[in-house]
Amino acid sequence: MNIGIVGLGLIGGSMAWDLRSLGFHVLGVSTREQTCEKAIAKGIVDDASVNLSLMATADVIFICTPIAAIAPTVEQLVPYLSSTAILTDVGSVKAPVVKAISELWPNFVGGHPMAGSTQSGIGAAMRDLFVGRPYVITPTETTPTLAVDRVEEIARSLGSHIYRCHPADHDRAVAWISHLPVMVSASLIAACMSEVDPDIVSLAQHLASSGFRDTSRVGGGNPELGVMMAKYNRQELLRSLHSYRQHLDRFINDIEQESWEVLQQNLEQNQQNRKNFKSC
Ligand code: NAP
Repeated sequence: MNIGIVGLGLIGGSMAWDLRSLGFHVLGVSTREQTCEKAIAKGIVDDASVNLSLMATADVIFICTPIAAIAPTVEQLVPYLSSTAILTDVGSVKAPVVKAISELWPNFVGGHPMAGSTQSGIGAAMRDLFVGRPYVITPTETTPTLAVDRVEEIARSLGSHIYRCHPADHDRAVAWISHLPVMVSASLIAACMSEVDPDIVSLAQHLASSGFRDTSRVGGGNPELGVMMAKYNRQELLRSLHSYRQHLDRFINDIEQESWEVLQQNLEQNQQNRKNFKSC
């Protein structure tokens, strides 16, 4: 089977690399010539080009560009596709992407591998990035079953755990566990940097250890990705941010009122609840 990957960055490059080692013939398209050369030289793809016509022989194509480029890329890609080609994408937001692409190419199913790093570009591509991680497939009532099964099968071969849900449910769920944490974590870094005494800032920077590293990690990631999450999942992100602000206010209130017992109960409840989140 020929697999096409459009967008040879962290996700596209990592996926191409694993699929090629699994024996698929992998063709890659990216915007920069040097990215294509690097992908071939590192053995990430069998062939690569800056021209979408390379996708003419691909059976299943993964669109791995930044979210804003997904729909425009598919528009340009459609004239080159074989009539049976299956399209999927890896965008972190699903409802607007699924709506736009299904209108351009009905043999499409949305997807979201829940894996990543703070790095980007082909240089950040790594092997086994998706092993043991969730891979969400987001069919709608009109998605062809064959496309769902085929993409699911490929995602499973990457070692991922497959979940199926509606695009809107995906966006609401990831607002809580992926998009809200980016904003919370970024606010944490910004709050620390608002300390007015430069000596204290410097001391805090030297003392920062695993707790700060864990809680600041996603807020210090790729800014472009954060903006895309906010832009494309605006409503769900705002809903989760407003809720977060209410919870923060409760903490402030408990501490101001010295309601230590209430604070203790709140923290105990959270300690219990955290265990229900799969990777925690
Ligand atoms: P990335 O590392 O920046 O990779 C995207 C690559 O696509 C760029 O390096 C660029 O390569 C290429 N590109 C950009 N526009 C293109 C176009 N119009 N046509 C073809 N290639 C194009 O970003 P990423 O983190 O892999 O994210 C890619 C997608 O995965 C996004 O939709 C994101 O929502 C999703 N995602 C990201 C993560 C994460 O944690 N990073 C996790 C899950 C899903 P060159 O310019 O070098 O050619």
